[in-house]
Amino acid sequence: MGTSLAISGGPRLTDREWPRWPQPGDRALKSLEDVLTSGRWTISCAYQGRQSYERQFAEAFADYCRSAICVPTATGTAALAIALEACGVGASDEVIVPGLSWVASASAVLGINAVPVLVDVDPATYCLDPAAVEAAITDRTRAITLVHAYSAVADLDSLLDIAQRHALPLIEDCAHAHGARYGDWPVGAFGAAGVFSMQGSKLLTCGEGGAVVTDDPEIAARAEHLRADGRILRRDEVGVGEMELQETGRLMGSNACLSEFHAAVLLDQLGLLDGQNARRVRAAEHLDDRLGELGLTVQDTSPGTTDRAYYRYAVRLPDELLAVAPVGRIAQALTAELGFAVMQTHRPLNDNPLNRPSSRRRFATGPDYLARVDPSRFDLPVAKSIHESVVSFGHEVLLAPLDAVNDIALAFRKVLDNIHEITD
Ligand SMILES: *Cc1c(COP(=O)(O)O)cnc(C)c1O
Repeated sequence: MGTSLAISGGPRLTDREWPRWPQPGDRALKSLEDVLTSGRWTISCAYQGRQSYERQFAEAFADYCRSAICVPTATGTAALAIALEACGVGASDEVIVPGLSWVASASAVLGINAVPVLVDVDPATYCLDPAAVEAAITDRTRAITLVHAYSAVADLDSLLDIAQRHALPLIEDCAHAHGARYGDWPVGAFGAAGVFSMQGSKLLTCGEGGAVVTDDPEIAARAEHLRADGRILRRDEVGVGEMELQETGRLMGSNACLSEFHAAVLLDQLGLLDGQNARRVRAAEHLDDRLGELGLTVQDTSPGTTDRAYYRYAVRLPDELLAVAPVGRIAQALTAELGFAVMQTHRPLNDNPLNRPSSRRRFATGPDYLARVDPSRFDLPVAKSIHESVVSFGHEVLLAPLDAVNDIALAFRKVLDNIHEITD
């Protein structure tokens, strides 16, 4: 017998230490101390005579996304719900949602009393399938949300065209795609609004955070009201000790403000993002070649993509292999060889234990609504097949040196060659 797999008691392919995430930058400690002693820990406390970190981050991130305005939020889920509501979506409206995503894609829609319509994805890019979107549009559809998923940019040309023809706002969920570009322009700047998550696993993070970017001043003004209990930041002179948030009463909101601590960390991280993304791309392209030689199919992106951002690196396993062992076991075997987590992609939202509106009393507004939001009424064969054939790992691994990246290909090779050891 040849070398046996680590999962069946053999030696591991490597014991190396892989990069961890998140990674603090040099300036963060100083900025955090500065917030701590500033007398203002959030924009909803009185002005202290200088620009808040929240404003500094909003300006820097709008610039980064080449958008006119950025409204920071407490989470990505809040950003998504706020963007939808700011586009006029509300009770009972249908919102198109990709069927392969984190649960937030559906829960944000439910959170504004709207109805998520789960739509299947493209088998090569794992992003929203334009033809399936077209087929899902009804006279109750009020918005389309897309996700630039894992390491891909969605087919923006086709999706923007559909949105325009049906006069629907397109909302780009860029939670996986900070820094990705399409036609040399940053994602998030194509739709009516772009939405970001800065939760701890994401490419730009402060632990928990989010943002809405838009060029539309009306959408921005509504988003500002929605995230600060119906208040917006004053544009005129503010005195020390006065509230910078002004109560306009124009639109009721909730509290989803980003704290000064979080904004300070984000400013620090934003300065590191492009360099980290470039390293990830180099490692990913190197790995693409090695895995291609093994006959594996890595996740593709839409033709208009000019810069990918790798949140998760994803690879489809060949059917011959999956006939021997299920994808989950193969992922475990790779994890055992490499010492970092290799996992399946998200569970499709029509069959995901986290997406269960019936478990929550707030959605019991009537039998009609409960039936409409029942995820099991949707059919998502492509999302299901991706879940059952694709393995992926997190972006921090791609920050490793290229010789370490070679080990990843060697682990795939080892598992492929010894697949019969993991039949059970
Ligand atoms: C992480 C994520 C979100 C939600 O962000 P939170 O900051 O965790 O609320 C939304 N959409 C996608 C696709 C995500 O991956």
